[in-house]
Amino acid sequence: MAAPRRGKPPQHFADLAPDQRGPAVAALGEKAFRAKQLATHYYTHLTSDPAEMTDLPQAGREELVGSLFPPLLRSIRTLEADGGTTVKTLWRLYDDVKVESVLMRYPGRSTLCVSSQAGCGMACPFCATGQQGLTRNLSTAEIVEQVRLATRALARGEIAGGPGRLTNLVFMGMGEPLANYRVVVDAVRRFVAPAPDGFGMSARNVTVSTVGLVPAIDKLAKEGIPVTLALSLHAPDDDLRSELVPINTRWTVDEALDAARRYFEATGRRVSIEYALIKDMNDHAWRADLLGEKLTARGKGWVHVNPIPLNPTPGSIWTASERHVEAEFVARLRAHGIPTTVRDTRGSDIDGACGQLAAEEAS
Ligand code: SAH
Repeated sequence: MAAPRRGKPPQHFADLAPDQRGPAVAALGEKAFRAKQLATHYYTHLTSDPAEMTDLPQAGREELVGSLFPPLLRSIRTLEADGGTTVKTLWRLYDDVKVESVLMRYPGRSTLCVSSQAGCGMACPFCATGQQGLTRNLSTAEIVEQVRLATRALARGEIAGGPGRLTNLVFMGMGEPLANYRVVVDAVRRFVAPAPDGFGMSARNVTVSTVGLVPAIDKLAKEGIPVTLALSLHAPDDDLRSELVPINTRWTVDEALDAARRYFEATGRRVSIEYALIKDMNDHAWRADLLGEKLTARGKGWVHVNPIPLNPTPGSIWTASERHVEAEFVARLRAHGIPTTVRDTRGSDIDGACGQLAAEEAS
């Protein structure tokens, strides 16, 4: 197989902020007001097909649309679970790099889990993507295209349950979103901009999940887009967390929790603490108590905990905690007054968690 070209993906309309679109269209010899028509086609009608853009002059339409909307994502494999309401797509990018996204449909809402990087540099040993290392950052448009294609599949009734709407977005696919900061924030701006400038989603329904890059959390708090922050903690003590989330040697548990608390103060958004429960590793009752103490020490009503049963990666020695251990862990947190909900394990039979499909494809 040819070695991937590690350049930049071709620039795409979705990379452009609203005020950059008119000039981009004008640079191609078209009237600047066409930018709004293009935005409507893309963000509202969810299309980048010139044949569907009949309000544009036919002369030069193919060329105009072709240069503003280069194909960035090609679906090379889809896997379904839960009666077709969970759909995982493996995408091939322009340089043959692969990433995945997962759509999960529930009664009354649909969540898309998007990738922000191909691979990941954070090296968490329990995470399939972490084992691959970082290949490259995605571009804003490569992220926005994951969202457009899922929104379109729902709108067209291609997902079990009939036509629907995408309501929630989580940056819990491949990559560390805050390590690709500018690109991710720009993508979020496209998600929340009112139509036709963007998809018009609610910021609170967008979740940015991070290993805890403290300066980036503080920066995100100042962007004026109140997205939900999820902090992947996985241990309340530095010894264990440094093993499970190696960036902890740079920013400790206390530093990460302080940043999460500041995020809540700046945005009013309740923070989620992610905690993959790994049998005999981090699931001890004393660790639930220590976590409860550390969270309540920082105030009330600012945080909730999402324990996630570990989805074992191929070759891993680790497994999910036993049910009664998980129940005890949850009960202890609740006894500290911390709202706690175990994450459902949609799609674990299609390797729903993190990078496993792309890992399989690469090997
Ligand atoms: N890099 C970001 C986002 C991607 S992972 C982050 O770490 O937050 C999204 C969530 O899935 C994180 O909480 C991550 O720790 C968790 N995760 C990764 N591998 C997992 C596995 N095998 N089982 C359960 N959760 C996992």
